[in-house]
Amino acid sequence: MILKRLKINTWIGDATNCYIVFDNESKETMVVDPAGDVDKIVEMINILGGKLKYIFLTHCHGDHIGGVPELKKELGGKVLIHREDADGLNNTNVNLTEIVDEFPNIELEADSRLNDGDLIHLGEMEFKVIHTPGHTKGSISLYLASEKLVFTGDTLFRGTWGRTDLPTSSFTQIIESITNKLMILPEDTIVYPGHRKIYNDWKRKTNLFRIKTGKILKQ
Ligand SMILES: [Zn+2]
Ligand SMILES: [Zn+2]
Repeated sequence: MILKRLKINTWIGDATNCYIVFDNESKETMVVDPAGDVDKIVEMINILGGKLKYIFLTHCHGDHIGGVPELKKELGGKVLIHREDADGLNNTNVNLTEIVDEFPNIELEADSRLNDGDLIHLGEMEFKVIHTPGHTKGSISLYLASEKLVFTGDTLFRGTWGRTDLPTSSFTQIIESITNKLMILPEDTIVYPGHRKIYNDWKRKTNLFRIKTGKILKQ
């Protein structure tokens, strides 16, 4: 497997982490959260000799989906998103593109609506969808047990979590998602978040304690 990260600047503060996952045997490729800079994404996939199979969206926000229409037009690929965020793809209020003047409104259709526990295959690799609501009601994480890695979107960042003051957000749900669905993954799992650093030092007890007591201040 080859895994590449592209940091993509959008209209929102922190650059978005877009990931390209490539299976060496089958050449099947998945892009996680193509936020923009589609020319760079396409270039990378072409260098790898990849065939785009899936465009996986951790949630429906504009800073994660901005490049989807162009990428799909260029290379095809099925757009996958959790069923509870699928409607947000064509609701510019929920996907936040309505409220940010600089950004063009985005309206998109999903090709597949995912559920918790669904399995996604790329060659021999088997990814598991974990429904982690809270940042949005249909936020999902994607776990690859064989490589001990998880894509967490805007649910979990290093030592903190995503905003919960947006349409369909819930603070209670995001804390439940992190403690009950992500913190139970093996300690050496590498976290690939939607923004900021990739990390493998869960410091689980510290994080768990801080999260439970709400002591982490937003950065
Ligand atoms: Zn978001
Ligand atoms: Zn984001």
